[in-house]
Amino acid sequence: MTTGTPDHEDDPAERKMRFLFALRSRGVTDSRVLTAMERIDRGLFVKGLFAERAYEDMPLPISCGQTISQPSVVGLMTQALGVQPRDVVLEIGTGSGYQAAILSQLSRRVYTIDRHRRLVREASDLFRAMGLTNITAVARDGSFGWPEQAPFDRILVTAAAEDPPGPLLAQLKPGGIMVLPVGQSDAVQSLIKVTRQPNGFDYEELRPVRFVPLVEGLASE
Ligand code: SAH
Repeated sequence: MTTGTPDHEDDPAERKMRFLFALRSRGVTDSRVLTAMERIDRGLFVKGLFAERAYEDMPLPISCGQTISQPSVVGLMTQALGVQPRDVVLEIGTGSGYQAAILSQLSRRVYTIDRHRRLVREASDLFRAMGLTNITAVARDGSFGWPEQAPFDRILVTAAAEDPPGPLLAQLKPGGIMVLPVGQSDAVQSLIKVTRQPNGFDYEELRPVRFVPLVEGLASE
């Protein structure tokens, strides 16, 4: 007879089941979103010391002093965005590339921007290695959006601004949806959903969140 407990931590199937269960229990119920999150291995986006915690529902540090968001927050934001298969999506805040990879499963094309060249380079390498050919990443200040590729069906911002940036609102198609955290960087922020109507914008407050701030200008690396 053997003693001790079996090591479920090392069983990938078991790990994935627990990961999906945690998402569902936190309100991620959209089956397309869950399937995308089942397909995209978060472990590929977290490097070094924290890699073993990739399947836990917590934000983790990535390069350049940034963070990969908590999986349940990624799921809830993606769900709120209501992405359709033919949509062209803009993401501000590439970070590790995890959120962009999930969006790539649900849409026609994803454009993603980060102010850190290094994050854009590392994420682009991963997209290539994973065969995710419908994502384009670029290093620039995302608060101005991507006018050359606009307008967008969906815009997802993964860094907190005090208010929705005007250029992003302007780059949303009629009927388009933008999900973003707003508020002061060191306080609790609100996740909001903005829908472009024929003569204005509808604002819906979704939940409290905490994101790194949207910072002006290109970073030094
Ligand atoms: N979506 C990412 C997590 C983003 S963390 C993921 O899935 O891993 C927030 C990111 O926003 C950081 O990488 C930060 O560099 C970026 N950021 C902050 N201000 C920005 C700006 N003005 N333009 C573009 N990216 C910005």
